[in-house]
Amino acid sequence: MLVHNTVITDYIVVSILTQKNENSLNVSFSFMTTNSLELVLGNQELNILRKLTCFKGIKEASMALVLNSCLEMHCIFSIKALLLRQTSCKLNEQSLKQLNRMTSCYVVHEAPVRRVAIFGGTHGNELSGVFLVKHWQENGAEIQRTGLEVRPFITNPSAVKKCTRYIDCDLNRVFDPDNLGRQITEDIPYEVRRAQEINHIFGPKNSNDAYDLIFDLHNTTSNMGGTLILENSRNNFTIQMFHYIKNALAPECCPVFLTEHPNLKYATTRSIAKHPVGVEVGPQPQGVLRADILDKMRKIIKHGLDFVHIFNEGKEFPPCTIEIYKIMEKVDYPRNKNGEITAVIHPSLQDQDWQPLNNGEPIFLTIDGETINYEGDSTVYPTFVNEAAYYEKKQAFVKTVKVKLTAKVAKPFLPDPDTSSLILKAPKTAVKNAALNKADSCP
Ligand SMILES: [Zn+2]
Repeated sequence: MLVHNTVITDYIVVSILTQKNENSLNVSFSFMTTNSLELVLGNQELNILRKLTCFKGIKEASMALVLNSCLEMHCIFSIKALLLRQTSCKLNEQSLKQLNRMTSCYVVHEAPVRRVAIFGGTHGNELSGVFLVKHWQENGAEIQRTGLEVRPFITNPSAVKKCTRYIDCDLNRVFDPDNLGRQITEDIPYEVRRAQEINHIFGPKNSNDAYDLIFDLHNTTSNMGGTLILENSRNNFTIQMFHYIKNALAPECCPVFLTEHPNLKYATTRSIAKHPVGVEVGPQPQGVLRADILDKMRKIIKHGLDFVHIFNEGKEFPPCTIEIYKIMEKVDYPRNKNGEITAVIHPSLQDQDWQPLNNGEPIFLTIDGETINYEGDSTVYPTFVNEAAYYEKKQAFVKTVKVKLTAKVAKPFLPDPDTSSLILKAPKTAVKNAALNKADSCP
């Protein structure tokens, strides 16, 4: 993916992203005025845009294609402006609908978040989520917010009944197109069938009908505290929410774990939502409930729902930056030729999730008392250290690095009777700030 940030006379091109697929070129762009509150796009500006690298080779005729593929929230207003000049473009129905709901766009106008689910029991032996969800199913007062539909749901009831992680396979790994589209046969794994049911109720994944937000409640045997899991570093809404939750919980730590990775990311249960949120709280043994862990989980959900509620009411959240831990690599235990583990996590690494690990520091200890040290050029931050469920996944811990993520101003787009107006209502400074932050957050 290419990112261009270019200043053109009175306009800041905040970001232009081009993504080359096998047989198409997707272009999305956004820009803002710096000295005017009115957005007017003339032929001159259009020509400048076309001259930019990523527009080379795109002919007038294919502009509609470009527009159709531009419909990310952050570039909506420029599309709308273009649309005025390109009246002959044919947009698909969904795009037109979306455009018609647009108002001024100096901020990231997100869709309001109306349908929320809280999943417990995705792993049947992680009891905090099971306990809370069952309670909320009986008495949901605590999770209700005006204007929100919040649905508590047990995702793997059979595994919960047996207090086991899963019956046939890990439910939290099967929400990929192959499994979701798999023909139902007699020998289909229980969790694949269940994934299809869940996708039917809360999805379909990647569709407009999917739930807006899903919190998926997990426990870990690792000393990770109350961790939030982010799947996509460009999900502005979720980053803003995590920023809010972190602040609400301070001074207590609330690490954010980013699972975005070309090979290590997997198809989670929550991934059917537009905004998937993993909540991973530990240390807690499997099949056990601890009051302190329960309390942490409960608070995270409370603050998360509060954020959604305030957001829906139209509050504007200024740009923010959070520190996150990005997954880099998983590390297996030392094993013999039969695949059996030959060393355990070193005492000086045990329970040290999110703490820096440097070259030469101990990570494993063999039965003979031999220490195995970490070898690496740079400091990493291990997590999921000695997680019980990951012995089968050949993972002793994962290495992460610290990264800062910046979110743009966020505000819901609420119905506006005058959708034809392209007047930006923002004060000049806000426009500039939004532009700067947008540029900062480009990957
Ligand atoms: Zn889990």
